[in-house]
Amino acid sequence: MASLRIQERFVSVQGEGALVGVPSSFVRVSGCNLRCVWCDTPRSSWAPEGEATGLDELVEWCAAGPRHVVLTGGEPMLFSPAAELSQALRAAGHHLTIETAGTVWCEGLQADLMSISPKLSHSTPWRRDPKLATMHEAARLNLDVLARLISSYAWQLKFVVRTAALEQLEADLAEIDQLVAELDLPKDAREQILLMPEGVDDTSLRAGYLAAIDSCRARNYRLGLRLHIHLFGHTPGT
Ligand code: SF4
Repeated sequence: MASLRIQERFVSVQGEGALVGVPSSFVRVSGCNLRCVWCDTPRSSWAPEGEATGLDELVEWCAAGPRHVVLTGGEPMLFSPAAELSQALRAAGHHLTIETAGTVWCEGLQADLMSISPKLSHSTPWRRDPKLATMHEAARLNLDVLARLISSYAWQLKFVVRTAALEQLEADLAEIDQLVAELDLPKDAREQILLMPEGVDDTSLRAGYLAAIDSCRARNYRLGLRLHIHLFGHTPGT
């Protein structure tokens, strides 16, 4: 039986995106092709942990939880058994969200929502690890894969933006606007594009929301909340 290396699994409410607040089982696959400098799940990327877990065990565990399941990482699309797991979960009646950076295609993968978080240039760890930074920079955006995901699944695009200084926010928005133009997304899809201010506590997030709100109004992008941080803080398993 196929397996996936799982770093953690837990039941909580969705903290981000269009389904914020929906009770969901989270299954976090260990392993990532990127090394974001601010990665909030380093135990599935920089220092991957976890045990190989049979897909049948994962399906059984999800069956005991909410209808909504979120397959996240790390980067679940890197691992071909994710396709078989996605098929089994949807056949069992689950609503399945895939959380991905959108850099790789996974053949046969099924999803009700492809939650894509393309990485902007501020994610690249130049000072922390120049060698990995070069690898990250080469891999962090793949327009062909992004376009294929968007044309194949229901989707949302989530962008982490820096809001501590206006120049940083403007630089990030310029990258987002360029990517949105290159993907040729229709104007009426703008509310599927979320600006997610950086922050790991109530105070910094509130400041980030206020800094980003005018850009959301001007472009019709959605303001991306982080409910799990407001509820539980910056805590694994939430
Ligand atoms: S893509 Fe996600 S899991 Fe991978 S390094 Fe970046 S934030 Fe971490």
